[in-house]
Amino acid sequence: MTEEQSLNCDVLVIGGGGAGLAAAIEARTHGANVMLIEKNPELGGTTAWSIGSFSATQTPHQISEGIVDTPDEHFEDMPKFSGPLADRDNPKLRRIFVDNANETLRWLMSMGVEFFGPMPEPPHRKPRMHNVLPNSRAYIHHLGKHAAKIGVEIRCNSRANKFLLEDDRVIGARCEMPRGITEVHAKSIVLASGDYAANRELKAKYISPEVSLVDAMNPNATGDGHEISFPLGARVINGDVLSGPTLRFIPPPRESIDRMLPPTKIVTKFMRFALKYMPDRILRPFVLGFTTTSMAPELDLFTNGALLVNKNGKRITDSPAKLGLAIAQEPEKIGYVILDSNLAAKYSKWPDFIATAPGVSYAYLDDFRKTRPDIFHKSDSITTLAGSLDMPHEELKNSVNAHNADNDTKILSGPFYALGPAKSYVVLTDGGLAVDEEHRLLGQNDKAIPGLFAAGSVGQGGLMLKGHGHHIGWAFTSGRRAGRHAAKETAVKVT
Ligand SMILES: Cc1cc2nc3c(=O)[nH]c(=O)nc-3n(C[C@H](O)[C@H](O)[C@H](O)COP(=O)(O)OP(=O)(O)OC[C@H]3O[C@@H](n4cnc5c(N)ncnc54)[C@H](O)[C@@H]3O)c2cc1C
Repeated sequence: MTEEQSLNCDVLVIGGGGAGLAAAIEARTHGANVMLIEKNPELGGTTAWSIGSFSATQTPHQISEGIVDTPDEHFEDMPKFSGPLADRDNPKLRRIFVDNANETLRWLMSMGVEFFGPMPEPPHRKPRMHNVLPNSRAYIHHLGKHAAKIGVEIRCNSRANKFLLEDDRVIGARCEMPRGITEVHAKSIVLASGDYAANRELKAKYISPEVSLVDAMNPNATGDGHEISFPLGARVINGDVLSGPTLRFIPPPRESIDRMLPPTKIVTKFMRFALKYMPDRILRPFVLGFTTTSMAPELDLFTNGALLVNKNGKRITDSPAKLGLAIAQEPEKIGYVILDSNLAAKYSKWPDFIATAPGVSYAYLDDFRKTRPDIFHKSDSITTLAGSLDMPHEELKNSVNAHNADNDTKILSGPFYALGPAKSYVVLTDGGLAVDEEHRLLGQNDKAIPGLFAAGSVGQGGLMLKGHGHHIGWAFTSGRRAGRHAAKETAVKVT
């Protein structure tokens, strides 16, 4: 075996998203020699795809706004987001999260990450949502830089595909690395490989065959960590819980300005000032790009009479909440939202917006014309609208007639509008592997597997993270804690 095919470290971290970076930095800070492997060419994972909100209490932001809040109140409010799923929560992990979220947010700030807020998000009784500036890539930028600076060995294009075992102890992982298959030996491992939103088999097994057909927002969320842990006896909790399928307009051909902003001090300082003091009319054009790019169309559009058709003009019918699932069965899994002039007028002013980033901005029909010309179509007749969408006009007319026969709100008067293509996506899956309160991965008979920890989505352990800012909060909080425990484990004498 050449040197490159066998590597050694104290702590091996699998996954370079939020949880993995936090784990690697904490393990290194606690004296361990750390290697972080990331299967993609770049760090980031779903963390870099996210909006990046982080909900926490007693933060510098809450304090400077005079908001008196406690982890206890946060603990009580979190289940209110889960509705009928609240009973399936893991209260021990929820306690860990609320008690440590504030310290984690401050730790991120100490690394250079900046937040705006807190924003209200009922049923939270106090404003707790902190939004990262200028976007979620700031997490990866600052933590990646810090990890490299303190000596974490980061290896991208490196994918773990099997754990190495000695008796019942995990002693490393078999990895596909640029120079070939490599055995990385470690005294402990933190698994931080994200969720399985893009794994068809796991979605079919834990959610449903229909949902398994829906694409993931992050096509790299393939649930590798779940799969390599099954042979160790690991089990998924709340595997059927997910966010989505959500109808979203396809991304623009070019990245929106907000995603391109670098996370430098000057940019975040300007953004913080602008968000706080600039009048809406000046600020709107900037934040709108973000809303029309990243946010889902409101479902009440369909309750109020909009029509959804597939790429051939055929009507897609289902309850608004199920349209996301229905569209995934259609050709190319895409559809178009059709409105007439009456609906267009309704969706041109408060309180009827087409999409919203809660507490940040509301986007009306005309905002789509200005910021998303690639998905905005307008025509005087259904025939010419069909032409501009490249679909058979007879089929679109039939769909409009059938829709009008079934609905009180009819598509009648021109000009007619289409927004699309829209596609449905699984945003994330919440089925994490069972872990204990030290983030040790549990194997057969719920016994902790020596040497193996799990954090972030893969180590969610049944915790319900509904509402904004809890997934990111958990990724960093659990990542830090798992990293510390993994570093401590390296001092354990293995006989
Ligand atoms: C569009 C969108 C918006 C969101 N917005 C928010 C929000 O505003 N607030 C919030 O709280 N949550 C949000 N979320 C959810 C949140 O982003 C995730 O739950 C969180 O980032 C998960 O972090 P993680 O570190 O566990 O996983 P990830 O960030 O996905 O990191 C896992 C990493 O592991 C790597 N990996 C996987 N398998 C292997 C392997 N075998 N070997 C090596 N590397 C591997 C992956 O490539 C990835 O880089 C959002 C999600 C989406 C999709």
